[in-house]
Amino acid sequence: MTEPENAGHDYDVVISGASLAGSAAAILLARRGARVALLERRSRPTAYKTLCTHSLTANATPVLEELGLIPALEKAGAVRNEARWYTRWGWIEPSAAPGPALPYGYNVRRSTLDPLIRCRAAETPGVDVLLGHQVTGLLQEAGRTVGVRAKTPEGEREIRARLVVGADGKDSAVAEYAGVPTRQHENARFGYLAHFRNLPLRDGISHAWFLVPDMAYAFPNDDGVTVVAVLPDKKRLPAFREDLEGSFLDMVRALPDAPDIDAAERVTKITGTVDYPLRTRKPTAPGVALIGDAALTGDPLWGVGCGWALQSAQWLAEAVAPALTGPGDLDKALTAYARRHRRRLGGHQYLAADFAKGRPFNPGERLMFSAAARDGGLARHMHMFASRLIGPMQFLNPAAVARAAVVNLRHREASARTGA
Ligand SMILES: Cc1cc2nc3c(=O)[nH]c(=O)nc-3n(C[C@H](O)[C@H](O)[C@H](O)COP(=O)(O)OP(=O)(O)OC[C@H]3O[C@@H](n4cnc5c(N)ncnc54)[C@H](O)[C@@H]3O)c2cc1C
Repeated sequence: MTEPENAGHDYDVVISGASLAGSAAAILLARRGARVALLERRSRPTAYKTLCTHSLTANATPVLEELGLIPALEKAGAVRNEARWYTRWGWIEPSAAPGPALPYGYNVRRSTLDPLIRCRAAETPGVDVLLGHQVTGLLQEAGRTVGVRAKTPEGEREIRARLVVGADGKDSAVAEYAGVPTRQHENARFGYLAHFRNLPLRDGISHAWFLVPDMAYAFPNDDGVTVVAVLPDKKRLPAFREDLEGSFLDMVRALPDAPDIDAAERVTKITGTVDYPLRTRKPTAPGVALIGDAALTGDPLWGVGCGWALQSAQWLAEAVAPALTGPGDLDKALTAYARRHRRRLGGHQYLAADFAKGRPFNPGERLMFSAAARDGGLARHMHMFASRLIGPMQFLNPAAVARAAVVNLRHREASARTGA
């Protein structure tokens, strides 16, 4: 669909939601010449998402680089993240394995990150950040979305644009108003998290415990804060809730190589969610694009939503900017974005939705996780997958699977020889 420039539009793009996905998209679209209105229902410029463990996987780093945020993040104390993962076969230690430096992301609290990226959006020429603006409906003409209706401190307002972007999170109102169906996958785990000071972690790196079905994490963050999270099976919820603090601390104390939680100071309340289904939506409709959690809400267990929020913003900007600022075809650009989104994230979400059932490791996972605990090369391969720098097909490529099989065979032979 081509249109004369600015035909009856207030902006080229109106974005609902000024969190990670929305702010990133606003910056990247405006830098490519689009005029952007970035609407956020909350009115404080320092607002941030509290329900997050703040670990940005390495796939986010190229987007943070393009946004120009890395120097500010490092200055704010963001921690370059490395991780080890506990499994019943032992620790998987990618950082300890020989090889070139591994790609890294950042652990940085959302109270630091969200205001930073929103402020960067506000400073970007071509972006109008409109705080206290809640999108309450879509303007539609001939089956196509042509703008939004918003509740503002000054009353109702209509804003017309060639493209409306839903960056409004997992309960996306834009998706609902546009009639985009939601595919929901149940999550068999609940989660609680809290922030601590004086909680050193071994080697100062992130820890994850795959206790299957339960999970636990500890992430060092900016300003000397360590975020600790537990994601137990929902069957444990009634007993867990009877004494939330006691259950949380007991679960951390019982972890293999547990951090010394009793010597630490808890600096936030224990907060969490008892029902967090995964959601998948088609990321486009006529005149509409969805990014971040609005398009795909992953399982918090994998800590990937922030990276995908930033990446999907970048994919959208790359796809639609030429059509928004020149004579290109916007519908074709949206189709290209949807295709890239599905190709890059579909396989990850499929696996995550299956694992969210709380099932035991499947044979492929058993093979790869056990071998990665025994072999540095496979631990590094696992890091690439966990960082979402490779997809499931690359993770389970024939060479990696064959290597895992050989590693485990040799391990069995060695165990038989030593009688272990
Ligand atoms: C317990 C937990 C832990 C997590 N830990 C991690 C982790 O360690 N690493 C990771 O990568 N991901 C993690 N995630 C996921 C991550 O928090 C999300 O994927 C990420 O915040 C998505 O960003 P977003 O910009 O798409 O949406 P959001 O951050 O949800 O932002 C949506 C924005 O839209 C605004 N909005 C909503 N409705 C409207 C409206 N009608 N009008 C205007 N504005 C509106 C909201 O106010 C908000 O600012 C975790 C999630 C949970 C629940």
